[in-house]
Amino acid sequence: MTRTAGEVQWITVLGATGSIGRSTLEVVALHPERYRVFALTGHRQVDLLARQCVRFTPLKVVVADLAAVTQLRDALAGLGYDQEIEISCDRQALERAVADPRVDTVMAAIVGAAGLEPTLAAARAGKKILLANKEALVMAGEVFGAACSAGKASVLPIDSEHNAVFQCLPGGSVTPGVRRILLTASGGPFLRLTRAQMAEVTPEQACAHPNWSMGRKISVDSATMMNKGLELIEAHYLFGVSASALEVLVHPQSIVHSLVEYDDGSVLAQLGNPDMRTPIAHALAYPQRIASGVESLSLARIGTLSFEDPDLERFPCLGLALAALTAGGRAPCVLNAANEIAVAEFLSGRIGFAAIDAVNADVLARLGQGKAGANVGAVLELDAEARALAVQMVRERRG
Ligand code: NAD
Ligand code: MG
Repeated sequence: MTRTAGEVQWITVLGATGSIGRSTLEVVALHPERYRVFALTGHRQVDLLARQCVRFTPLKVVVADLAAVTQLRDALAGLGYDQEIEISCDRQALERAVADPRVDTVMAAIVGAAGLEPTLAAARAGKKILLANKEALVMAGEVFGAACSAGKASVLPIDSEHNAVFQCLPGGSVTPGVRRILLTASGGPFLRLTRAQMAEVTPEQACAHPNWSMGRKISVDSATMMNKGLELIEAHYLFGVSASALEVLVHPQSIVHSLVEYDDGSVLAQLGNPDMRTPIAHALAYPQRIASGVESLSLARIGTLSFEDPDLERFPCLGLALAALTAGGRAPCVLNAANEIAVAEFLSGRIGFAAIDAVNADVLARLGQGKAGANVGAVLELDAEARALAVQMVRERRG
């Protein structure tokens, strides 16, 4: 449903307790006349959810399980909260929270494959989708595209690089005359480390990103540069461009968020401080512009912006993602699933950092050939199969 300017937009934030979810609510809080929160979802961070309820008075909240429902009720009672609120945790609760006819906009900010089904529900219901959950697109690009077309949903990229590309494309889509899309990459915390040094890094070091403050999974992906690989696949699905028109450019300062080159030699770039509130505000208000709370960019203070080619030998995950993008079919879904397992195992200390790409490579080689799942059921089956194999690979590596 298209709202006229001036009308309040109702928003559901999937993953409200995460890094993107919290930044979204910070932008929403600056514009109470424009945005109202319909539903908040979080998995188990009940105390934060309770404080968010007091601040944003959502009509619904969705949590992981019955224990979390009870804890949230208790936390709200403890805060003296007396507004009417529906708290649920059943299987369809996330889908109801996005598909309700009162909802205009859905922020898809659950991390990983867990975000696929509610994001698809938003697509089918024709919502304006602010897409942060890149894993959903990587694992089910075609299925998601078909759901958006069938439901007449619109998608606005939140990932800073894709949001930048969107802003550098008139009308937001690739037209004849676009030669290349260049995704910038900070290179993460280990940009200058040798492979031998990388083998020794801890989860804490991997999560300490030099420029961005993010959830732990995407922080590790940035450190392996799998994040940039997933973003190449994301760009392919969002903008309909092939691998040959996509490039990665390492830019350690994270000020130029991405670039689009045209046939006439023009290169357009979007710049800004590394703060996700900028792409979030852009997508929330599009095609208008609103304040995000981000401070002005001072290029004079930064002084130097530098660029270099990525090193695929030290960052093999980037090469694996490129291979998966080129192969197409099942490969992106398989790689994403393997990576979710490998990253979780690294974060819990069961494998070393350098084993992440080895697990990913093994699973991709074993399961990456063949056609993509034609529907969500087939995608989830393949995801489960690749996860199971990744778990087995981890066990074998640990002996
Ligand atoms: P995060 O870990 O900080 O937050 C994840 C959110 O998902 C939390 O609210 C958590 O409760 C919820 N969640 C986790 N598992 C769930 C499950 N099984 N069911 C339901 N909810 C679940 O992650 P983040 O950094 O906010 O990233 C969210 C998404 O946005 C990721 O896909 C990431 O790649 C993407 N993204 C993040 C950034 C960033 O700066 N943080 C930038 C670009 C893209
Ligand atoms: Mg990004």
